[in-house]
Amino acid sequence: MLQYLVILLDDTSVAYCHADNPLKKRNLIPIETLRKGIVFGMKQNLMIQYVFPDYELSKKYIDVIESIDNVKVFPVNKKPDTGFDNESDVEVANSVPEKVKSKNLVLRLKFSELLSKKNEISKLFGNDFRLNICITDVDRFTDEDIEKYQELLKDWNAILLGLYKEGKTPQLNILTDRMMLDKMHNCDAGVNNITLAPNGKFYLCPAFYYDEKTNVFNQLNHHKPSSDNSVGDLENGLNIPNPQLLKLDYAPLCRNCDAYQCRRCIWLNRKLTLDNNTPSHQQCVMSNIDRNASRDLLNKIREIGEFMPEINIKEIDYLDPFDVRKEF
Ligand code: SF4
Repeated sequence: MLQYLVILLDDTSVAYCHADNPLKKRNLIPIETLRKGIVFGMKQNLMIQYVFPDYELSKKYIDVIESIDNVKVFPVNKKPDTGFDNESDVEVANSVPEKVKSKNLVLRLKFSELLSKKNEISKLFGNDFRLNICITDVDRFTDEDIEKYQELLKDWNAILLGLYKEGKTPQLNILTDRMMLDKMHNCDAGVNNITLAPNGKFYLCPAFYYDEKTNVFNQLNHHKPSSDNSVGDLENGLNIPNPQLLKLDYAPLCRNCDAYQCRRCIWLNRKLTLDNNTPSHQQCVMSNIDRNASRDLLNKIREIGEFMPEINIKEIDYLDPFDVRKEF
């Protein structure tokens, strides 16, 4: 069931997930489109998440934006001055920031940057905000990187364990989320959230809008450069073809997997496997490395005392569920 409406306020709104935003030219959402988007969200009882660009919006826009409860996603140190904060507001950085002003930081980095900046990043762990690391080049992850990633997470686990021993409860998505989950908790784009772009059309997520604007997907896959990735518009409502195909029940690998923290990114799926609901080897391997490291951390924390007794993460001998599909 849809719960969230993501509204891109501008073509240059900050990218907050796996896909970079290649759009550099400002294109602010027309104020009437914004109003209609809010009405759509109200009628469907959706929580609105505004995604901000890095420039200030006029008072006329801020008044419309604040006419409804909302969550804001904004570039680090560019907190919109609207007079309203929400605990769920998200700050997004593309390099390790000096200061964070909200309770949630998304740190978007390439895998190589994760390795080269591992000490700098680890200094963020003990703070009172949730840290979400988002790797922006999952598609380039190779099996030669597996050991490097496992070593990195082992080092970070030791730091997190030290913080737990001090009585802190650090939150780092790739290592602590799985310890708290007993069922899938994925991105669910197109299932529990939908994106409204400045052109008044809906997209499964912002990345599908970027791809349409730049024809990246078509060029990558040698399709004709004619793709309309939209799934409806404000005039006619949502129109997602075969919506069931986005759901977990229709994803044979994912529904048998217990990397519950995995994003199950449908944009990455489409980019790498040409199918929204079929995951790539890269995403599965990275997510299961996270899962296994989370299991190690959970076991170490349990040596100190009881912790999440209801969670059981079993030992597995694979990283890509595709390799054991016959057992499902
Ligand atoms: S690791 Fe792979 S199979 Fe498991 S949930 Fe993620 S994408 Fe699906």
